[in-house]
Order: sequence, then C-alpha cells, then structure tokens
Amino acid sequence: MSYFTTIAGGLKSLVTGLGITARQMRRKPVTLTYPHVKPELSEAYRSLISLVQFEELETHDCIACMQCVKICPSFCIEIDGGRVEGIKRMRASKFEVDFALCSMCGLCIDVCPTDTLEYTKLYDEAGYEREWVYDLLDPFRDFEDEFVERQRVSDAREAAEKAAKRAAAAEAKAATEKEPEVDP
Ligand code: SF4
Ligand code: SF4
Repeated sequence: MSYFTTIAGGLKSLVTGLGITARQMRRKPVTLTYPHVKPELSEAYRSLISLVQFEELETHDCIACMQCVKICPSFCIEIDGGRVEGIKRMRASKFEVDFALCSMCGLCIDVCPTDTLEYTKLYDEAGYEREWVYDLLDPFRDFEDEFVERQRVSDAREAAEKAAKRAAAAEAKAATEKEPEVDP
C-alpha cells in the first residue's frame, strides 16, 4: 500500500468519525451529567418505602396493625405499638425496615389499611453494612406528643357530641310518648 493510500484512508476515517459525532450532537442526549443534573423519575419509579404524612393528621397514620409485617416476603419490617391512653387510634412506637433485604415488591404498600406507606423517589441511597436499617418514625417522633394531645381533644369532643345527640334523641322520644291522645 502506497503512502498516499494510507493518508487518504486515514482522512476518510477521520471525516466519517467527525460526521458521526456531528450527527450525534444534534440528537437528544440519552445520558445525564449526573450528579450535576438530577434525573426526572417516572410515576412508577420504586425506591425505599416511607410513611405518608397526612395533611389532616399532620403526621403518619400507622396503627401498628402488623399487616405489612405479616405479608413482607423478606421479613425486613419490625414494628411495635398499640393503644395510647386517652385516644382511640392505635399508634406505632417502632417502625424499622432493613433495606438491605427489601426487594421493593410493594406488598406492604398494597396491604396497608390506612394507606400510610409509599415509595420514596430516592435514587442515590447506598448501604455500607450488611444491615441497612431505617427508622421510618424518625421524621415524626418530635411531633408525636402534640399529635396525641390533639387527638385526645378531638376524641373527647366527638364523644361529647355523640352523648349530646343521644340525650336529645332520648328527650324527643320521651316528649312524644307523653303527648296526650287527641279525640277525632
Ligand atoms: S416492599 Fe416488599 S420486601 Fe420491601 S418492606 Fe415492603 S413487603 Fe417487604
Ligand atoms: S400495614 Fe400500615 S398501618 Fe398496618 S402496621 Fe403496616 S404501615 Fe402500619
């Protein structure tokens, strides 16, 4: 092969390569310059589970029913809880999940009777130990006493309203029974 042929082949290959680069530059990028650019996550994206904060309660609504613990195929949820004095609602006092075991199957979310579990949109979490336990109650703990107090007041008000309704109904019934019969 002559010297000239070698140079011509090299130039052709360079032009072809530059053409491919130019074409790709006009296309929409399929990768991100992470971590400078954050990804947009789809609705269906699944990540670690967390407790939902309900607007009306200003906290989560885990009633420690243990349904999620029973259904979890990875045995990675630990919950404690029960009745709290003065309120009707049961409350969880411990909610830990070992995410090293969680397969994000979503069964716990599906079974929860109060809809208080959801997937987070986290995508850059990593565990560095064999156990990777999250305390899901941690973000709520500081507000728990306040919630219980509010719940006590609201339960007491509800009970008083029910008692008042019952008393009014009994009074109305008694008044009807006392009414004298009128001859036609
Ligand atoms: S998503 Fe599945 S594996 Fe993970 S905690 Fe819930 S039930 Fe268990
Ligand atoms: S199923 Fe829902 S309410 Fe029951 S313990 Fe699990 S998170 Fe709490």
